[in-house]
Amino acid sequence: MTNSNIDIDKAGWSFDNTYAKLPEDFLVKQTPIPVKSPEIIILNKDLSKDLGLDFTNIKEENLSQLFSGNLLPTGSESIAQAYAGHQFGHFTMLGDGRAVLMGEHVSKNGDRHDIQFKGSGKTPFSRSGDGRAALGPMLREYIISEAMHELGVPTTRSLAVVKTGENVIREIHLPGAILTRIAASHIRVGTFQYIAATQKEQNLKVLFDYVINRHYPNIKNSKNQALDLLKTIMNVQINLVINWMRIGFIHGVMNTDNVSICGETIDYGPCAFMDTYNPDTIFSSIDQQARYSFSNQPKIIKWNLARFAECIITLIDDNKDKAVEIATEVINSFERIYEEKWLNMMRDKLGLFGEHINDQILITELLKWMDKNKADYTNTFCFLMNEKFSDNEIYNDENFLIWKKRWKDRLELNNNNQEKYLKLMHSVNPIIIPRNHKVEEALTAANNGDLEVMNKLLAVLKKPYESQNSIIDFQSPAPSSDKAYQTFCGT
Ligand code: AMP
Ligand code: MG
Repeated sequence: MTNSNIDIDKAGWSFDNTYAKLPEDFLVKQTPIPVKSPEIIILNKDLSKDLGLDFTNIKEENLSQLFSGNLLPTGSESIAQAYAGHQFGHFTMLGDGRAVLMGEHVSKNGDRHDIQFKGSGKTPFSRSGDGRAALGPMLREYIISEAMHELGVPTTRSLAVVKTGENVIREIHLPGAILTRIAASHIRVGTFQYIAATQKEQNLKVLFDYVINRHYPNIKNSKNQALDLLKTIMNVQINLVINWMRIGFIHGVMNTDNVSICGETIDYGPCAFMDTYNPDTIFSSIDQQARYSFSNQPKIIKWNLARFAECIITLIDDNKDKAVEIATEVINSFERIYEEKWLNMMRDKLGLFGEHINDQILITELLKWMDKNKADYTNTFCFLMNEKFSDNEIYNDENFLIWKKRWKDRLELNNNNQEKYLKLMHSVNPIIIPRNHKVEEALTAANNGDLEVMNKLLAVLKKPYESQNSIIDFQSPAPSSDKAYQTFCGT
């Protein structure tokens, strides 16, 4: 063993690689393809601590070797996972084309985490791709996934980014990078689709049992495990999308391969946060049909869940007709569950306790007003919480004042003091979100070798629900010249 290996082994790894032991249809053994001159750009100290990993005594050059995948710690068994997916509605066999799972690390409290390198070179699943990633998109995933975590949304997280010292060719030459991504697992709806497509019933049962053991052990004693798994996954996905709707997040590429079985937000490609409230907002340049617009997100998750149900239909009942009937009934309950949770989430955003028959109208009227008057989604709730931010003249609008009076009347019905409803509102309405133009500003500076702008942004994003000092600049929506903000999937 080399000295550098001994050095990176000091971090406190505790590997137990269960996925690597699954049948060969599920994966290929794959080591990251070495890179020329890796240089660590950012390491997430808080996340390291959460994982029970300590990198403080490891030399910087060895950290660069580690997080580029050039050197793997003892106990790692790296693999590329097979999966499929409906991409914009079309079924494709995919797999980790530019990612490698380094292993599963079990932290002291028993939580199991996938440690994955993204941008780690070609694999048998790369198709025509180069297996690589560029620095900008990897730092973008780092910033937004960490912001999502601080916003209290289930998400994969980002442990480190290294520059590879090699260029990647997109339309132009860009600095290459590798992101170390942490996830409860990387099992997707698309993983089930892949196994179902191979038509090996015994493998489907292996995956099914694996998911229940790893993520949902409480289902083990169910009378109908498959049906309960469907209901459970529907529930976690509804909760996830409700969180996105709460903070104005648009995922942008909700293909079934980007829907995690454990309910974490995964694959930060063309995602972005909405400034001005408009339910039809899309940012992704490739989403021409607006399939993944803000207001379509619940509909799409339902569609994706129906694809998941199809994969496990044989496990729901031996009688296919009966299985389809029961599964359809579950999928059809989506709207009812979603609507109820959405309404409660919006009540929280407005500080409303209990239920009143006119709540739905009150909420919809506010959204309509925001849409018509191009009000900022985040800042409108900040205004209602008496938070300061620049440029709030729009809230002198007569129609808004009429609405506000009705809202105040509804608040009175609760008999709660201001302190109590503001506390509720502050727990769900962010003051700070990663505004698109601020993220772009940080990435432009980072691409030019200046990490200070990004570090300042990350520091502000750490406390999204707090009134911090000197944050006006982070609260403003993009200047109007930026209105046609677009994100690109060529990440
Ligand atoms: P994504 O759009 O990141 O969800 O990726 C969809 C599929 O394309 C996955 O199978 C990826 O592994 C693959 N992919 C994306 N970019 C590349 C690349 N540069 N090289 C190889 N495969 C890629
Ligand atoms: Mg993906």
